[in-house]
Amino acid sequence: MYSVFDLFKIGVGPSSSHTVGPMIAAYRFAQQALALEPRQKIDRVTIKLYGSLALTGMGHATDIALLAGLSGCLPDRTEPEVLRGTVEALRRDHLLMLGGELRLPFDETTDLIWLRNQSLPQHPNAIDFSCVDRVGESLLSERYFSTGGGFVYSERELEELRASTQSGTNENAGFPFPFTTAQQLVDMAKANQLRIDEVIHANELVVRPQHEIDERLDRLWEVMSGCIDRGCVSGGLLPGPLKIRRRAPLIFSKLSRDSKELPSRWLPKHAAQTTCDPLEQLDWVSLFALAVNEENAAGGRVVTAPTNGAAGIIPAVLSYYVHFVPGADRDGIHRFLKTAGAIGLLYKRNASLSAAEMGCQGEVGVACSMAAAGLAACMHGSIDQIENAAEIGMEHNLGLTCDPIAGLVQVPCIERNTMGATKAINAARLAVLYGDGRHFVSLDRVIETMRQTGVDMQAKYKETSLGGLAVNVVDC
Ligand code: SF4
Repeated sequence: MYSVFDLFKIGVGPSSSHTVGPMIAAYRFAQQALALEPRQKIDRVTIKLYGSLALTGMGHATDIALLAGLSGCLPDRTEPEVLRGTVEALRRDHLLMLGGELRLPFDETTDLIWLRNQSLPQHPNAIDFSCVDRVGESLLSERYFSTGGGFVYSERELEELRASTQSGTNENAGFPFPFTTAQQLVDMAKANQLRIDEVIHANELVVRPQHEIDERLDRLWEVMSGCIDRGCVSGGLLPGPLKIRRRAPLIFSKLSRDSKELPSRWLPKHAAQTTCDPLEQLDWVSLFALAVNEENAAGGRVVTAPTNGAAGIIPAVLSYYVHFVPGADRDGIHRFLKTAGAIGLLYKRNASLSAAEMGCQGEVGVACSMAAAGLAACMHGSIDQIENAAEIGMEHNLGLTCDPIAGLVQVPCIERNTMGATKAINAARLAVLYGDGRHFVSLDRVIETMRQTGVDMQAKYKETSLGGLAVNVVDC
């Protein structure tokens, strides 16, 4: 069973599938290794990367994530600076402190292997870990798959998951409202006279008490808005060979007329002020998205929503709601996140959040669809209008390729989030202000179309940096 809090993770940039997932996998392996008896027999740990992880992992900080995870760091518990310091020390001393407890020699040139020409059939993002004793005898080996959005499965777990999905098993049967399709979600909500966010809330109550749900939602918004604030005042160049200049601070100072206050302080006082430019609100939305994705590209703290590459869209649209929609309040923020989460769960179950499987439609497209539904809910859209908004949000991202230049989550990723955010607002407004909920293409059909399109796409357009902008733009 998945909770919306599995979908919205507090993580670290720049990638959910290539940074957050591998760090979690490495952490899990380290814990398994430490449980060996006696653990002192472990002499060395080695890692092999396959497919998309091997091809773009260097630009996505997969190496840093793996070393940090093996050292006992977790994306949600370890501050980004601590994590970087841990890896710097490891690289300087060639010593790995496995799980933070067992000191081992580690030579990155021989112990971390990038198999750029090999991809495993189960999933393009595969990692093998193994540890051996002094004479090279294997003590433990495990294969993990990072399937997008920070979700990680061992080989056995992935097999079980796929078997249960294929057999039609409803893994949500323990919830009061066990939906697996958009149609079921819509029908259940209508039959019980509940909103979509109320369906999710009832399901979440099975897992955790009311106060914890509220606290977690507050924390998600706190991290999202904190990320926007940091991004708006952090200048300089992004890491990596492209030497991309961070744009958010300049745009922020223009929009705020050189105020020194952070957006979260400045905007509440000035959001209602009139401007002669009727589209300035959209400029703010673009700024919010840029700020988050620049923070993400710099390896900062972000909410995986539902991935890191697309981490700016939901915070940008939620900030638009908070600052520019009259009557916005804490309940609305919760409603937005729960509704968006419901939509994200449908994509996770029936297609994929992984750009290595689906292209960028699996990241930016899904985030756009989720944000459109969340905003439609805050605009008091009906259940049908919310489903329509989510459907529009994806329909016009179908076929979106993933082609990051130099394997970095920078170009086209950062700017693409501004497009996803403004598209989501447009989708919500079309569905709620100018629609009555009736529409021609259902959300379920569009999710299935996205899945089929992702399967049909050539691998070079799926987070390999072997096609698209990645080969048509020189990276030096
Ligand atoms: S192009 Fe899209 S899917 Fe690919 S890394 Fe960038 S944001 Fe993620």
